Amino acid sequence: MRTVRAIDELRSALTPARREGRTIALVPTMGALHEGHISLIRRARRECDVVVVSLFVNPAQFDEHSDLERYPRDERHDGELASQAGADILFAPTVDEMYPAGFATSVEVLGPTERLEGVSRGSEHFRGVSTVVTKLLGMAQPDVAYFGQKDAQQLVVIRRLVTDLNRPVRIQACPTVRERDGLAMSSRNARLDPAERSRAVALSEALRAATQRAAEGERSAEALLDVACAAMLARGVQPEYLELVDPETLQPRDQLTREALLAVAARVGDTRLIDNAILRPSAASSEAALKSGTPHDERLPRKAIA
Ligand code: AMP
Repeated sequence: MRTVRAIDELRSALTPARREGRTIALVPTMGALHEGHISLIRRARRECDVVVVSLFVNPAQFDEHSDLERYPRDERHDGELASQAGADILFAPTVDEMYPAGFATSVEVLGPTERLEGVSRGSEHFRGVSTVVTKLLGMAQPDVAYFGQKDAQQLVVIRRLVTDLNRPVRIQACPTVRERDGLAMSSRNARLDPAERSRAVALSEALRAATQRAAEGERSAEALLDVACAAMLARGVQPEYLELVDPETLQPRDQLTREALLAVAARVGDTRLIDNAILRPSAASSEAALKSGTPHDERLPRKAIA
């Protein structure tokens, strides 16, 4: 694996592959690599000819200065892990290389950024993400870029910008990798002390409780959110947000009549964690809706009935 710091060097390293028609994968990361990142790199290795892993802690997407300062960094170890997982190029630019003096351009996706993380973290967060991802796509010009479902809203935003800006790249979502107890892997988990670490399972337990209730036939968002919230409070964790939303627009949903995204954020100690699950109406509840003669996609949402 070759480590590259300059954008020109990355371009020239990829030119022969592009000329020969080999497929290029990009896996953007902020480092502190864990099994979640590794699963993206391994998949890229299986599916493409050349694998570029970018490692850049992007100051523009941090809404809290202390979060940026405390972000774990260990490039040497990250390089070893990326190489073992099959990366060909580790692209690790400096802040000055990414943001040259006088930098004045940003990419702003409206709509899906105005909810959930966009509310909690402010509009700068997704502006920072959208700008850096647009730049990385321009630098590596990959055929496929790999992102984790763990950051579900980020995926929605990136798909939106790729469509809107006509970027010739396929965005591949990859499943969330979890610890044995269900906690979604995250670079920020390292900051949890042992007591916080055991409470942190509250987020995945909430998702599991709601998924279970949906499988039993529950369709009311209110009821599903109640059961999820109760699971979190039982661990002493207060949700910052806990919402059932449309997986594409991220608008709130009142009924689980078709696939929906259950998204949660919470602080455990000083560490802010997010997680999500896709919920589907159970076959049992679809049958009940059909028997009642109501096409389930046309049922009125609860609020409209009230
Ligand atoms: P980050 O370094 O946190 O910016 O994450 C880089 C990429 O890894 C993003 O596409 C994340 O969604 C993805 N990722 C982070 N955690 C996980 C996880 N637990 N499972 C799968 N993908 C993940």
